[in-house]
Amino acid sequence: MYIEFLDRLDRKFHLDIEPREIIREVIARNHIPFDAVIVRKDGEVVDDWREVYDPAHDYKVHMVRAYHLPDILALNGLWQSRATPDAGVEIPAEPFYTKRHFAHSKGGDYNATQIVFGREEFVEWIEQMFVDGTISQNLIEDGDKVLLAVSGGKDSLALGYFLSRTKHRLPDYSLSAVHVMAFSKPAETSYAIKMAETFEHPLTLVEDDELVSAYRLRVTPREALSQVCDKVDPSYLIAASHSMMRSSVERVARRDGIKKVGFGLMREDILTSIVKSMFVGFPFGGSYKGMQNDIEFIYPLWPIGKKELTLYLEALYPDSNKQGSPVTFQRGSLVRDAHYMIAETMETILPGSSFQMMEGQQRLFESYVRMPEFRVCKRCEMSFQVGPGALPEASGLCELCQTFTNLGVADDVD
Ligand SMILES: [Zn+2]
Repeated sequence: MYIEFLDRLDRKFHLDIEPREIIREVIARNHIPFDAVIVRKDGEVVDDWREVYDPAHDYKVHMVRAYHLPDILALNGLWQSRATPDAGVEIPAEPFYTKRHFAHSKGGDYNATQIVFGREEFVEWIEQMFVDGTISQNLIEDGDKVLLAVSGGKDSLALGYFLSRTKHRLPDYSLSAVHVMAFSKPAETSYAIKMAETFEHPLTLVEDDELVSAYRLRVTPREALSQVCDKVDPSYLIAASHSMMRSSVERVARRDGIKKVGFGLMREDILTSIVKSMFVGFPFGGSYKGMQNDIEFIYPLWPIGKKELTLYLEALYPDSNKQGSPVTFQRGSLVRDAHYMIAETMETILPGSSFQMMEGQQRLFESYVRMPEFRVCKRCEMSFQVGPGALPEASGLCELCQTFTNLGVADDVD
C-alpha cells in the first residue's frame, strides 16, 4: 500500500504506508522535513501530524516549495527507490568506512562522491588528513612549544595518537600536557598519566586546591559548580566547568612560557560553536585557531569528525574504545544537544558542508566582523571577551568569577 508524493516539478513518487499508520510516521520514515509538505485527503488538507491513514480514502503528500528534495534524498541513499549512490564506487573486500563528500561544482550543483576504505587505508587516510589540516592552517610551526589540554577522554587520547604517529611528518615542535583533575573520574586521570608515559611528554596535573586558591573558593570546586547548577542555571554548568579547565590551562601555559595551547575540538564541536554563535549573536572566532590575549588556541582535530575519530581508535587500539563516558559533567542542556544535532544533520544532508562553513566563518571574521577584545580575568587568569553582548568587565573578573562571588562561594577580595 502506498500514498503519492508530489513535488512541485510535477514528479510523482510512492511512499509505502500501512492501514492505521499516522501520516507523520510515513513522512518521518522517508526523511521528508515536516515543513516541506502538506497532506490532502480526498482533496482536503488534513493535519499530517494527527491523521490516521484510512485506505478507503485518497491521500496525497504535496511539496509546498519547488526544490529538488527527492534528488537530495536519493544522493544520500535515503530513498532507495531511486538509483543508489553506490554506482561506480570501488569497494574493498572488508569495507570499514565510507567517506562521503558533496563537492561544489559549476552551475551551483553538488557532485556526490564517496570513497570506501578498508581498515588500514582508513588509518592512512585519516592521519594524512590530520597532517594536511595541521600544516595547511599553520597550526604547528618549527620550534613551537605546544601545551595539550588533556581530559583523559577519547578525544585527547586520539589527539595524542595522531601527534605521536605523524610526528615525523609535522614541523619540529615540543609537546607537554595539562590535565585538570577536579572534573575528571580517577580513570580519566590515570589515562592522562598513562598517555604522558606512552607519548613521553611532561604532564602537569591541576589538583582541586589549586582551583580553590585560583578562584578564592570557600567550598570545593564541585560544590561551587553544583551551586551554579541549583541557583543560576543548569545549562550554564558545562560552560562553567569548561571555564575552570580553561583558566587552569592558561595559568599553566603562562607559568611555562608556552604560547600555543592545543585542544581536542573536532569538526562537529567547531560547527556547533558556529551554529550557536549564529543563534545567540555572539562571535565564535577562528574555525582552526584563535588568538586570545597572549595565547594561541589551536584545534588540530578540526577536519575530523567524532565518528571518524572513534573509528580511528577502534582501528588502532580496540580496547581504548571500551572506557566509559568521557567527562563527568557531560550532561548539559537540550539546547546544546540540539545545536549538535543541527551540526550533524547538516553534514548528513550535505557531506563536506562543515568545511565550507568553517572557511566561510573564518572569512567572515577576518574580513567583516570586528572581534571583541579579550581580557585576562584578574582572578582566575582565563581569557574572556569584552564588548557588545558580553558582560560588563568593570570588575576585571570573568563571568564565572563574578557568578561565584555573587553566589557567595568565593571570597570577594583579589
Ligand atoms: Zn575568572
